[in-house]
Amino acid sequence: MLDVGSIAKVELHRHLEGSLRLATVAEIVRSLHLPEAALSAEQLAQRAQVLEPMESLEAVLAAFDVFQRCFASLELVERLAYEAVQDAARDHVRLLELRFSPDFMTRTARLNWDKAMAALVRGVRRAAAEFDVAVGLIAIASRGYGLQSAMQTAEFAVHWRHELVGFDLADNEVRYASAEFAPAVERVRAAGLPVTVHSGESTGPEHVRDTLDALHAVRIGHGVAVGRDPQLAERMVRERVTIEACPTSNVRTRAVPSFAEHPARRLLRAGVPLTLCSDDPGLFAITLSDELEVARRELGFTDVDLARATQHGLNASFLPAEQVAAVKRRHFGWVTKLLP
Ligand SMILES: [Zn+2]
Repeated sequence: MLDVGSIAKVELHRHLEGSLRLATVAEIVRSLHLPEAALSAEQLAQRAQVLEPMESLEAVLAAFDVFQRCFASLELVERLAYEAVQDAARDHVRLLELRFSPDFMTRTARLNWDKAMAALVRGVRRAAAEFDVAVGLIAIASRGYGLQSAMQTAEFAVHWRHELVGFDLADNEVRYASAEFAPAVERVRAAGLPVTVHSGESTGPEHVRDTLDALHAVRIGHGVAVGRDPQLAERMVRERVTIEACPTSNVRTRAVPSFAEHPARRLLRAGVPLTLCSDDPGLFAITLSDELEVARRELGFTDVDLARATQHGLNASFLPAEQVAAVKRRHFGWVTKLLP
């Protein structure tokens, strides 16, 4: 049986803003004299981490508030980016796609987006070189900030396209339809950036269909709803649209009632390209290894299933193909060994 902790892993869906270390958060709230400085370590953990299924997705998004305020200076942006990559590498993630919302990240401290991006890139590059991990950055437009913010994020992504590997539309899909954001997504697609979209998380299959039709996403974040619609699942197989599945996140945000009802294994075995992701390791206090372990223990993944999900992750990566091939040759022999 595979030792999931020590094998090389690929992570396509991880939010920088959800990857903060609790110890770092504690240090920052103290040094900035934020209101949370008065909390005990235990109280801060309760505020900043979601360890049990919560009442709603909105409640989880509210927990992001403290993380958001930690991005208080360019130095901190660089440090938080560095640490996020370091933590992934410590968990033997060898290919990491790290996503961030420039509007969300810079909002509290009113940081300049371009300066924040330069700081983020410095932190990521330094950690990537030190810890032997290939990293690609994805810019996120948050639905809740509206179309104007999404357009600004699209322009930002086009400007920084050589430092980015893709674009994502995230946040509340219940209230904001994907199609509303088509102009922003079209802008980045025209500039050559591929698109992944948070869709079908706490919404129905029709939302995923709209996302595919209106935004031409080539990957779907979460996609839990695909499990309820065999025709949609067939479409995902046919069009090679990859699901970034985040089982722990889905249980904690109640996108699924329990692990037993998570569709990941069923979809994977039906041929849907699907890869396992952690979403927000800091928020949920998990690693990607934990997620693979959960897939095995709770979802019934075999070693071959884990290899297949990893293979799908490598295949669907937005990093340049030659870079993925080199990483695969160097670190992912265990996958090729398990897959005939
Ligand atoms: Zn996400």
